Amino acid sequence: MSESLLDRPIEYLKGVGPQRGEVLRKEANVHTIGDLLHYYPFRYIDKTRFHTIREIHPEIGYVQLKGTFLRYEIVGEKRKKRLVAYFTDGTGTMELVWFQGIRWISELLRPATEFIVFGKPNIFGHKYSIAHPELQEADDRSAGDARFQPVYNSGEKLSAKGLDSRGILRLIRTALSEIMGKIPETLSAEIVRNYSLLPRESALQLIHFPASEDDMKKASFRIKFEEFFFIQLRLARLKVIRERTARGAVFEKVGDHFNTFFSSRLPFPLTGAQKRVMKEIRKDLASGKQMNRLLQGDVGSGKTVVALMTMLLAIDNGYQCAFMAPTEILASQHMDTLAGLLGDLPVRLALLTGSTKAAQRKHILKDLSEGTLHLLLGTHAVLEDKVSFRSLGLVVIDEQHKFGVAQRAKLWQKNPETVPHVLVMTATPIPRTLAMTLYGDLDVSIIDELPPGRKPVTTVHRFESQRLRVQGFLKEQIRSGRQVYVVYPLIEESAKVDLANLYEGYEAICRDFPAPEFRVSVVHGRMTPADKEMEMRRFVKRETQIMVATTVIEVGVNVPNASVMVIENAERFGLSQLHQLRGRVGRGADQSYCILISGPKLSEDAKVRIQTMCRTSDGFEIAETDLRLRGPGEILGTRQSGEAELRLGDLARDGKILRVAQEAALKVAADDPALNGAAHASIREQYARIFKGQPDWGRVS
Ligand code: ADP
Ligand code: MG
Repeated sequence: MSESLLDRPIEYLKGVGPQRGEVLRKEANVHTIGDLLHYYPFRYIDKTRFHTIREIHPEIGYVQLKGTFLRYEIVGEKRKKRLVAYFTDGTGTMELVWFQGIRWISELLRPATEFIVFGKPNIFGHKYSIAHPELQEADDRSAGDARFQPVYNSGEKLSAKGLDSRGILRLIRTALSEIMGKIPETLSAEIVRNYSLLPRESALQLIHFPASEDDMKKASFRIKFEEFFFIQLRLARLKVIRERTARGAVFEKVGDHFNTFFSSRLPFPLTGAQKRVMKEIRKDLASGKQMNRLLQGDVGSGKTVVALMTMLLAIDNGYQCAFMAPTEILASQHMDTLAGLLGDLPVRLALLTGSTKAAQRKHILKDLSEGTLHLLLGTHAVLEDKVSFRSLGLVVIDEQHKFGVAQRAKLWQKNPETVPHVLVMTATPIPRTLAMTLYGDLDVSIIDELPPGRKPVTTVHRFESQRLRVQGFLKEQIRSGRQVYVVYPLIEESAKVDLANLYEGYEAICRDFPAPEFRVSVVHGRMTPADKEMEMRRFVKRETQIMVATTVIEVGVNVPNASVMVIENAERFGLSQLHQLRGRVGRGADQSYCILISGPKLSEDAKVRIQTMCRTSDGFEIAETDLRLRGPGEILGTRQSGEAELRLGDLARDGKILRVAQEAALKVAADDPALNGAAHASIREQYARIFKGQPDWGRVS
């Protein structure tokens, strides 16, 4: 059955018309009747139960009471005049207060008549009172009033057109009554049965008009399940179809490159976690299937060497590799690190970024297509269409957790015969629910062990007023041979002010840490790559002891001798950013420090962020807190273009529903990846509707 009724433009609904239609589109993103039905309440008012005055406590929220009025009085003069009525339900007495409509209300308050009162108690002195409660005679109450009432997001512009919460509710009632009985199911009968879901139509009805909290919960479960299900189904299909159709190059040989490196170049024994991950990777690479693996490991856990050994396997088997980093600085640092680790091993590698000179680029591209270049490092530039490999066997993607499904699809075109293996590495620990949503189509390996000898970084919070003490400490550290980062925030929106701040800070540091004893570098994103590069190198070579920078040094930069990370305006950084920054120190054998400096006034969220940092260095705990504070939208990037949208589902809170929805999706994908079966017709239709026009691996085979 088609969904044409749900797709009808919102203007055509009775009671809408062009003007309301426009404000609904603009303000609420409601274009169709279906959109309106998906405009879910953001909370409910529970009028199904009664409270007693005795049980009221400060966090109770709204209450509904039943009782009688003892007496009332009108107190105060003129503008301060108010009506105070004393209300009792037998368990206690409380004051109900009105500042307006005093005469009209006072006439309603007949003694010995039972009333129902609804409102939010406030504490005044030591007593509770409710200002302007809703008031109704108990005898007047009809069954329809005792409900679980939805409350919708509105706003000035919607309200001006009569679309406050009640107005929206009225429209939804009209819409539902027009199309009831014609809303098609979108899941299979089997799933609805197995997971005891409400049919879609009932869910849409009850999410707006629940008779009880239980109704509301069932409806919300069904709707969230469905949202998660389709996202997971897409990922699961990609995975299954890939596994069944994509051949990966087989790296069965462990050759000279790998062996020589392992036996005589590797500067340290691998940690247990690194060994385990190498085994997982080697198993994939020998399987004949294409590897799609996410390697998660906290900052400093040693992912680079794992990537390098994987690349050596590819090279041993006659394949080329690409290694992608998010910024030029990182790419070139990786270049140095890898070249250093490889030493005189006969591996030819090159760096390709946006600023590679034309002649050099031409040279690199030629070597690549002829196959004489083994390993290409770079930024996104390595995936441009003009870059063609002779036999690309492996792509390593470092530190880009926004490298989503669509971008990964591009890799397929690089070697159509055998699809390159993909290893995505990230040090940003991702909460499980997010990982399932972003990377649900990947297998996951985790390095959960830091190399031996690392001491946890001591983290403290200092106010700006304590700067002098911080300076003293930094001097001590530098005099004992250490290096220091000082990081300033720089965000696009306030770039000018931020940059000015950074330079002010830089100048102050140059004053307070005078040459020749102290030398200071500065790096920020607005400098030319060449200048950045030069400053970075000076710091790496210990020609400077203090590196003043923006978050360009956030990811990947590795200077083991740096032992102090000072973060200015720490209150302005997000948690995962703070964690990343802290990960830049604590890499050597010395005790390291992270000093979070903030202004005197902190928002509640900022306090939580700073406290979390001072308390723990567990990346996963930090990531979970981050998810709770910011919500998934912020973390995924503003509404991932083209990906399915979560309207009701919440990755921070609905992990359980996500997991059952994933289970259902995996089963469908395994049984019928093409969604051809008659039992999956309704799923197929909805799937096509949601993911219209998006890349689909289904066709790649
Ligand atoms: P990340 O996982 O953050 O990318 P790196 O790969 O940059 O971490 O490794 C951090 C540091 O730890 C590097 O200096 C690296 O040489 C070192 N390292 C990696 N593995 C080990 C190990 N098994 N033992 C000792 N040091 C190691
Ligand atoms: Mg790294």
